[in-house]
Amino acid sequence: MLKYQILPYMKLLDGKQTAQELQQKIALEVKALQEAGGKTPHLAAILVGNDGASESYVGGKVQDCENVGFKSTLIRLPDSVSEAELLAQIHALNEDADVDGFIVQLPLPKHINAEKVTQAIAPEKDVDGFHPINVGRMAKGLPAYISATPFGILKLLEHYNINLAGKHAVVLGRSQIVGSPMSILLARNAPVGNCTVTLCHSKTQDIAKHTLQADVIVVALGIPEFLKGDMVREGAIVIDVGITRVADSSKKSGFRLVGDVHFESVAPKCDYITPVPGGVGPMTRVALLYNTLSSAKKEFYA
Ligand code: NAP
Repeated sequence: MLKYQILPYMKLLDGKQTAQELQQKIALEVKALQEAGGKTPHLAAILVGNDGASESYVGGKVQDCENVGFKSTLIRLPDSVSEAELLAQIHALNEDADVDGFIVQLPLPKHINAEKVTQAIAPEKDVDGFHPINVGRMAKGLPAYISATPFGILKLLEHYNINLAGKHAVVLGRSQIVGSPMSILLARNAPVGNCTVTLCHSKTQDIAKHTLQADVIVVALGIPEFLKGDMVREGAIVIDVGITRVADSSKKSGFRLVGDVHFESVAPKCDYITPVPGGVGPMTRVALLYNTLSSAKKEFYA
């Protein structure tokens, strides 16, 4: 943690601390719901296979549910599960009145069509916000479950009262779950939005030309330490979404998590920056809780 403390001139956007505070608020809402005779929010997760990273993400989500007083159900299926069996499980959860929302942890084994799986989830239970109906509603500015990572980033910016109106935002990466929705959300006419947005991807020429003009940079590539200090202008706000496991024999786990931003060279130029770990990751998790709470309260779908 020392590397963050020796940089007093920039503000660290502390996702870990913010997520803890927001979890406390959610826990109070759960209590209030229960006292008013409402149901306990219930999140289910389907985990296929035993990929280490997926196990740890799902484990974290189950732990978060416990922290805020949600009910959670973890359904484990073997790597060998057929697409039809997985779809049958999804249909069962769609029909289960006690389950408010559920996720299917990605990635899935190659023999399963992830898009088919995403579209099988009932939109009103799609708390990951990946179903085309939720993506479309989000793009139109209608109430919708928003993909947890971009939603968590909005919550983080909101928590720190950062006004983005009129700023030039550059998003690196156009994935369906992070970069694309992030670019739409930042451009919306909304309290955290009203940016002029540039979306870059692997075919973009001279990425530094764009990032050097940015007031806000969101990096979601999966390329460790891609964004360097000489690609960023003074006073930028930098959000690092990347998480890559890099082998590190000095760690008990055998790896460390590395972001897409070269923190040491970028942070000194920033007004605000997220760390990795402890930035976007915990906010993604708390955003999933918010989506599940919205579902339990039937905020978006009757
Ligand atoms: P993804 O689906 O692999 O998308 C990567 C994007 O990066 C693509 O749009 C790709 O462009 C672009 N790209 C790849 N190489 C590039 C290059 N050299 N220059 C410019 N663009 C390039 O990744 P993702 O799911 O969005 O995830 C990105 C990172 O965020 C990963 O490290 C992932 O683990 C992490 N992540 C973190 C959280 C969290 O909670 N913190 C949540 C989700 C993801 P094309 O479209 O042209 O191929």
